[in-house]
Order: sequence, then structure tokens, then C-alpha cells
Amino acid sequence: MGFSVHLLSDGISYWDGGGAFGLVPRTKWIKILPPDEENRVPQALRCVLVQAGGQNILVDCGVGDKPNEVIAAQYDVRRPNGNLLDDLARLGLTAADIHTVVFTHLHGDHAGWATRLAGDPPVCIPTFPNARYYVQRQEYHDATHTNERTRNTYFPDNYVALTEAGVLTLLDGEAEIAPQVRVAPTPGHTAGHQSVLIEASPHWQNEALKSAPALILGDMATYMIQFARLPWVTAYDVLPLVNIETKRAWQAWAYSHGALLISPHDTQTPVGRLTKTDKGFFTVDPATL
Ligand SMILES: [Zn+2]
Repeated sequence: MGFSVHLLSDGISYWDGGGAFGLVPRTKWIKILPPDEENRVPQALRCVLVQAGGQNILVDCGVGDKPNEVIAAQYDVRRPNGNLLDDLARLGLTAADIHTVVFTHLHGDHAGWATRLAGDPPVCIPTFPNARYYVQRQEYHDATHTNERTRNTYFPDNYVALTEAGVLTLLDGEAEIAPQVRVAPTPGHTAGHQSVLIEASPHWQNEALKSAPALILGDMATYMIQFARLPWVTAYDVLPLVNIETKRAWQAWAYSHGALLISPHDTQTPVGRLTKTDKGFFTVDPATL
């Protein structure tokens, strides 16, 4: 198996550009990400497979395949190349081969494949039967105590069955998941949001990771432009001012380490590196793993 990192896809969705860019004027963001005639912008449903220390670790798991009225009405999911399980199959893996699932957070576009429907009558069971799942305790609390603002972003059928099956571990802050793979709290998009840090090591088969670390951002920055520009936060961020401070700290880290950044939703730049323009502004240049 070795040590390697692979980008996976659960498809692509189209969602309202105002939700994606919040207070940023439309006249500005349309130059970065042109919307369609209904003002929707593309959103990749990207997941990451990290193979390390004999473990297959899945970071986030798309929208899944359970019927969901909100996703049906607001996401317009398209899967020309199949779903997340199809992408795993292309790597020769089945759901049973996943040892670990890490959630950056529990929003519906990140936790969908955590469970699937099975039986008659159908009930939710863990999709990955041999996996232990990890999320921050704060995130699980918030996802199970929703309010009018958060209700349509969290879908309990994605994760309550994990608790019932006894396969969900609640984390309190930083934790090591596997050799060279750690999670770190990155609050803002949600209070209990976390990102995944991959340390540089000659062990990695990915050339770029031999000399530079990588950060799986999650929705700390939904699009790369939001990592480069501190005030650009989504309308979905529960704690936008906190997210700005989170990004400020991780910008400094990413720039000083030449880190690879892995985006959950950016269709133009799945992987990038933070650089500075001639005028001293941050920008994210495309990179390869
Ligand atoms: Zn997301």
C-alpha cells in the first residue's frame, strides 16, 4: 500500500454564488468564478484518500446516495464519472477496505457517504463497515443540536447511525490519525471544523510531499481565492470573523512551509500553493501532488 495521497470525486454540484461568496460583491467574484444563468457556481465534491501506516484513510465523503430533499432542491449534483465509491473502485478499493474516515465537518456535502440505506424497511448503516470515523466533539454536538440557520446544512441520517454502531470517535483538538497524518482544529466555517495536515516525508510516493507538507483545507476555504483573501468567506460560515483569524494563522504557516493546499470544492485549482504577487498580495498558484 505504501504512503500516498489521491484525490477522489463524488461528482460536482451547482449552488448559489451568493452562498459561496457571502458579502463579496457579485461584480468581483464573477471575474473569478463565472456563474450560470441561474447565478449558480460549480462546486467540486472532492474527497481525499490518504494511504499511510497500512491504513486507507478517507477524508470527507461527499453527498452520498440517500434521498435528500435539500440536496435535490439546492445542489444539482452531477456525476458524469460516477460517485465516490466508483472512484475508490478505480483504485482497486471497496468500501470494506477503508479503515478510517475523517470528517473536516459534518455538512451534507462532506458526510453523505458515511452511511447508506440497507434492509427492509431501509435503515442507515455505516457505508464503510470496517472503518472508525473521526470528527471533533464540538462539531458532532453542533450537528446534533441544529437551529434555524444550520438545519439545512446538517443531515443526521449521515452520522447518528455511526454513534449507534459505536464507530464514531469524538476528538478534542489536535490528534494523530496515522504516521505523518494529523488533524488540527480550524474553527470558523463551523465551530468544530478541522483540517488534515500531512507532514512532509521521503516515505510519500507523491513527489511533492517528499519535501513539503500538505493541508486538506476542508471549508476553512471553500475556494482557493478564499484562502488567499482573508475577508472572502462564504455566507455559510457560522463564525466568519473566527474563520478570518484561522485563515490568517494558516496562511502564515502555508507560506513559510511552501505547503500544498488541497481544496474541497475548487473546480479550477484542486491543489495549490500560496505565493505572493509583485504587489505583495497572496494568491494560490496551481500545483500537483
Ligand atoms: Zn463544503
